[in-house]
Amino acid sequence: METLLINNISEIKKSIKDWKKLNCSIGLVPTMGALHKGHASLIKKAKEMCDKVVVSIFVNPIQFGPNEDYDKYPRTIEKDKNLCEDIGVDIIFAPTPKEMYGENITLSNTELSFVCPPYNIVDCMCGKSRPGHFDGVATVVTKLFNIVEPNYAFFGQKDAQQLFIIKKFVKDLNINVEIIPCPIIRDYDGLAMSSRNTYLSEDERKRALTISQALKKIKSLYSNGITNANILFDTGISILDKNIELDYLEFRDFNTFEKVDKVKENTLVAIAAKVGKTRLIDNEIL
Ligand code: AMP
Repeated sequence: METLLINNISEIKKSIKDWKKLNCSIGLVPTMGALHKGHASLIKKAKEMCDKVVVSIFVNPIQFGPNEDYDKYPRTIEKDKNLCEDIGVDIIFAPTPKEMYGENITLSNTELSFVCPPYNIVDCMCGKSRPGHFDGVATVVTKLFNIVEPNYAFFGQKDAQQLFIIKKFVKDLNINVEIIPCPIIRDYDGLAMSSRNTYLSEDERKRALTISQALKKIKSLYSNGITNANILFDTGISILDKNIELDYLEFRDFNTFEKVDKVKENTLVAIAAKVGKTRLIDNEIL
């Protein structure tokens, strides 16, 4: 089956209107492209659940800070199209920044209406070192929901804070879509799949592996009855490679996003760290 590649909003809206007339259920998988097995797992889930599947591929300028990797973020649309075709995606929606935002394409612009989730959940963890990032994410995801009008939208638990924030604003703003969380897909060696893994040298990749190893160790200590977050934190730190720059290792309740001292079921353990110049994130839900 051929996957249609659409770049403009009015064109995709026409297809959506036709599908709605036929009462088709629509699944949306928002991505920034450079698709890998993690993305593929979301797309496959969407295929299972929905009559029609749209994958959006958009490196969203308003979620990148001025010193981040917006320009060098991998863009591999031909390869992505093949992957989507193999899985049977109906439409790839790949707009340009201008199509999405007109000329207003910076995070700091003051002319665009933003969706701003509450301070307490955006100004911590990844949001702390990436100011404005989650406003950019919430804004683009809302725009995609308004354009594609999906019944279901699929997000990876790899970006746990993002997933939490999206569920929150969808509920707060009564957006008519069901959010489907999907588990983290890992490479053969345990490294969480990420488009940014392509930046890693062989040596950096080895060091990056200590992130998933630290999470695994914390999980196993918790299974053996250790619930004190300080002890689990110290163990995690002792496993992380000394040359990686830790941003955070945090324990939060995945239902409320409150920090926890005593780990329990549904506690999110999340790590963000820079390996060389590459910022990686990973997590486990206990
Ligand atoms: P990105 O292209 O990095 O913005 O990711 C698009 C979607 O794919 C997000 O919902 C991510 O959480 C999800 N995703 C990215 N990597 C993985 C992975 N390793 N396993 C599962 N989902 C993932």
